[in-house]
Order: sequence, then C-alpha cells, then structure tokens
Amino acid sequence: MLAYIGIGANLGDAQETVRQAIARLGRIPATQLQRASSLYSSAPIDSSGDDYVNAVAAVTTSLSAGDLLLALQDIEQAFGRERPYRNAPRTLDLDLLLYADQQIATEQLSVPHPRMTERAFVLLPLLEIAPEINIPGHGSAQTFVTGVAQQAIFRLPAS
Ligand code: ADP
Ligand code: MG
Repeated sequence: MLAYIGIGANLGDAQETVRQAIARLGRIPATQLQRASSLYSSAPIDSSGDDYVNAVAAVTTSLSAGDLLLALQDIEQAFGRERPYRNAPRTLDLDLLLYADQQIATEQLSVPHPRMTERAFVLLPLLEIAPEINIPGHGSAQTFVTGVAQQAIFRLPAS
C-alpha cells in the first residue's frame, strides 16, 4: 500500500525534528520510505506560537492503516519523551493523510485526513511529491490549492 504521512513540528529545533521523523518513518516495520518533500514553514492556524515546520512523506507498507497509525503514534511519543517542554502540546505531529485509495472512518482513524484539503501546509508538500494525486472522495488535490492561497507558507531552503 502507498500511504502519505503529514509531518508537523513547532517546538525546539523543528527542522531537525522533521528530518529525524522522516528518517524514522523508514524504520517502521514492513514499511519503506519512498519520497519526502522539502521542508516548509507555515504560520500557526488557530493558535499562536512559533511557526511550524511541515513536510509530507510517501511510504509503502504492508501494515494495515490502523497499525500504521499506531506506529506513527509511537514515533510521536518517542519525540515527546526526548524533548519535554513546559506547556508543550507536542513536539511532533504525524498524520495519516492517505492510505492507498481507501476511505476509512472509524473512531480512531479518518482517512483521507478530514482537514487536508483546507491546509496549505499539507497540500503544497503533498503536491511537490505527488502532483497528480487524487484525494478519495474529493478529487484532484491540485484543485484545492487556490482555496488555500491566502495561507502563509514558504518552502525552506535545503540544508
Ligand atoms: P491533529 O493532528 O488533528 O491536530 P491530533 O494529532 O492531536 O490532532 O489528533 C490525534 C487523534 O486523531 C488520534 O487520537 C487519532 O486517533 C485521530 N485521528 C483520526 N484520523 C487520523 C489520521 N488520519 N491521522 C492521524 N490521526 C488521526
Ligand atoms: Mg495528528
């Protein structure tokens, strides 16, 4: 199965956190990292605080969507433990954006991720690595870009 993972961090060295998180995705059992986008910087939506660093990665996996989500949550927790900050909601957010062409709606998991069509920090990195991607139930991801054009986001220089 080809799956897309949304990555976000806004505490500490967020760029380094995102880079390390991408590397960790490739070490999930039965899972291979296929592609990773550039890193992007985006202003927080619905909250204050530091800007976010975002990226999207593509993996192939033979895990179920539910088991992949559990693996993502393990990685989130590992980063949280490594960098405990006062009032820190979370160092790292990993969202399962797409899982093959499946639509999943359970208590634990909504795929495609419900807000992905409204967020520039998801759409732009996703389209960088998958320009023709289709979002099940929504259509071509490209068609949502104009709707997020007002959101502050820029691609960070590679380093
Ligand atoms: P958000 O990413 O929306 O800011 P959280 O990361 O705190 O919020 O949300 C985590 C919860 O969202 C988990 O309990 C998880 O079960 C649920 N969830 C539902 N769908 C997804 C998804 N596609 N990817 C990640 N978490 C999801
Ligand atoms: Mg999340």
